[in-house]
Amino acid sequence: MLGLVYDGKLAVHKNVPEPTPPKGEALIRVTHAGICATDLEITRGYMAYRGVLGHEFVGRVVRGSRRWESKRVVGEINCVCERCDMCRSGISTHCRHRTVLGIAGRDGCFAELVSLPERNLHEVPDTLSDEEAVFVEPLAAAFQIVKQVRIEPRMRVVVLGGGRLGMLAAQVLVQTGCRLVVIDADEQKLAFCDKKGIQTILVEDLVPRKDHDVVVECTGSPNGLELAMQLVRPRGQIVLKSTHATDRSINLTPLVLDEIELIGSRCGPFPDALAALARRQVDVLSMVTRVLPLTKGVEAMDVAARPESMKVLLRIAD
Ligand SMILES: [Zn+2]
Ligand SMILES: [Zn+2]
Repeated sequence: MLGLVYDGKLAVHKNVPEPTPPKGEALIRVTHAGICATDLEITRGYMAYRGVLGHEFVGRVVRGSRRWESKRVVGEINCVCERCDMCRSGISTHCRHRTVLGIAGRDGCFAELVSLPERNLHEVPDTLSDEEAVFVEPLAAAFQIVKQVRIEPRMRVVVLGGGRLGMLAAQVLVQTGCRLVVIDADEQKLAFCDKKGIQTILVEDLVPRKDHDVVVECTGSPNGLELAMQLVRPRGQIVLKSTHATDRSINLTPLVLDEIELIGSRCGPFPDALAALARRQVDVLSMVTRVLPLTKGVEAMDVAARPESMKVLLRIAD
């Protein structure tokens, strides 16, 4: 089958072996997949991953148990053992033996077929198009923020970074009634927020005053945390969403002096994301920059890496 593979070099391969789902897993024909910052970081060395890329998808089950046969689905990306201490204590996204779709130990969804445990699947309602459903995984990651941090009306909240995840986070956070501002260095990115009635500030116009209750860091850059520490109030909270391949040193003393709580945040609840899309509470379609076929996967990754790009989708089948 066709697949976009990273093996030290990024290329579309024509003879990727079809997955053979073990017991409990379904074989899914991928219709659309989304390119995310994590995919770009993998090609820069993040996670030292080798294999088929991709973890955001929508597709149709072609082989599985009767419950899932021919269903249109999205899938959670952490494939877990159900036996370790993390799984048994109910936080299986932190399973000690997990594989992660297209990120760690398991081929991803930038291919014609993908295999995933049936327990990871969620059915997509008919009211959602493929182009919308492919956003469920990253939107769930945005909903994880409000699962981890209590955001109340009138709280001062910053989303740092107006890219793919920042836009989703902003649309989730604004619904809490908090006083939200999105900060980015790129005017074009902020235009999307402006259209949604969300307040924005360009980095160059920013005067950090350590006066925000919560800063959500979605820049995808190691500099993001430094700026976040200048924006958060003493005893405030920073939610860290960026993952990147770079490891550079950073002075964490401000966290101590200002008694700041730093919260790492990763995958989130699929049902919340599906419900928000179905209720049209979050606009994802206007975030789509380009839709390219899988055969143009390398070009699609190039387009996704451009600063002016929001979401780039791969169309893999109808
Ligand atoms: Zn992602
Ligand atoms: Zn486990």
